[in-house]
Amino acid sequence: MWNPERCDLCGECLESCLYLGYDLERAKKEMQLLISGEHSEVLDRCITCSACNTYCYKGARPFDLIVHRMDEEGSQFKKGSATALLEVFCFNLARNFVRKTKKDAPWMSICCMEYFQPHLFWDSKLFEGLNIAGGGDYFCVNGMIHGRQDTAVFENMQGYIDQLNKLPTDEIILFHDECYAPFFSYAKDMKLETNFKPIHLLEWLIEVVKDNYKDVKKLGVRCAISLPCSVRASGPDRHIWIEELFDLLGVELVERKYDRKNQICCGAVAGLGGGASEDLAENQRFSQEIREKNVNDAKNFGADHMMFLCPFCYAALAYDNKAAGIMPVMAADLVRMSLYGEKPTEYVTALEKGWIV
Ligand code: SF4
Ligand code: SF4
Repeated sequence: MWNPERCDLCGECLESCLYLGYDLERAKKEMQLLISGEHSEVLDRCITCSACNTYCYKGARPFDLIVHRMDEEGSQFKKGSATALLEVFCFNLARNFVRKTKKDAPWMSICCMEYFQPHLFWDSKLFEGLNIAGGGDYFCVNGMIHGRQDTAVFENMQGYIDQLNKLPTDEIILFHDECYAPFFSYAKDMKLETNFKPIHLLEWLIEVVKDNYKDVKKLGVRCAISLPCSVRASGPDRHIWIEELFDLLGVELVERKYDRKNQICCGAVAGLGGGASEDLAENQRFSQEIREKNVNDAKNFGADHMMFLCPFCYAALAYDNKAAGIMPVMAADLVRMSLYGEKPTEYVTALEKGWIV
């Protein structure tokens, strides 16, 4: 939630944005407009990557202000394709289900991710024996920020937590990073109570690998990471878990230019109208520019794999990665490959679906 008392209008958040291209004076001016409730160009051009929340080390959370102002101005209706896609995908296409195995087995919520990889959760040894809940009933709603609105997130967050609270467990593993992030932002701001501890997928994967360490086959690959916007929204630094997991699996983490604080977007939301222009062709061109920067950077620093925590990011970048000779993998794939000799998952790609061109 936006913390105005922590903002001294220094402008560093918008000056650091990789997409706006503002100098410090322009950044201060646009910040003033946002705070005073006047129209700012930021509301038209921001691609909702959330990074400015991390650029502000004073904890003011400027992206939370931006998305709130977008919602107030109704920009989600002008550029609603991301909203429409999320609603269709999460509430119409992804089926609801609860798979129970053993009473004491761990519980995982996979949100709508079965739609991206229908067989993964049923065929891989990694997920054998897990209790799994999935579908629109378990949609974290956090993604609606890419639909340029925060009202929908606040309105639906209680329902999301209620669904998870009904599961008979005191710990729930969240497959999608975006489902984990709200416990440190929106749900926390709303003081919603949970009767379980949220467990990040990476925490669980580390435990699985440690428990089965005798079966680990070191992968010996050079892996870049392309993390989702939700890691900038809130919660613990995911790099600590990634470094531990990579060490266990014999994966070399490729440090590169567009990484960590300088992390670049996957381009998915930009392509869906999340900024730049009302013109779809211009948005697609902008998305392609972002994707090329991301993949070329990984290639230049010698990566042969790129790991994702979000299936949307995978969908956006998989085709470009493969064209550049880089194997796209989800975090769970690295564990499947190492422990069970399974192949990386072929997820649905945004290109196949026509979301990007
Ligand atoms: S939100 Fe933070 S970084 Fe941005 S102007 Fe305010 S204090 Fe500076
Ligand atoms: S959310 Fe991302 S694109 Fe939007 S202003 Fe912040 S850093 Fe820039």
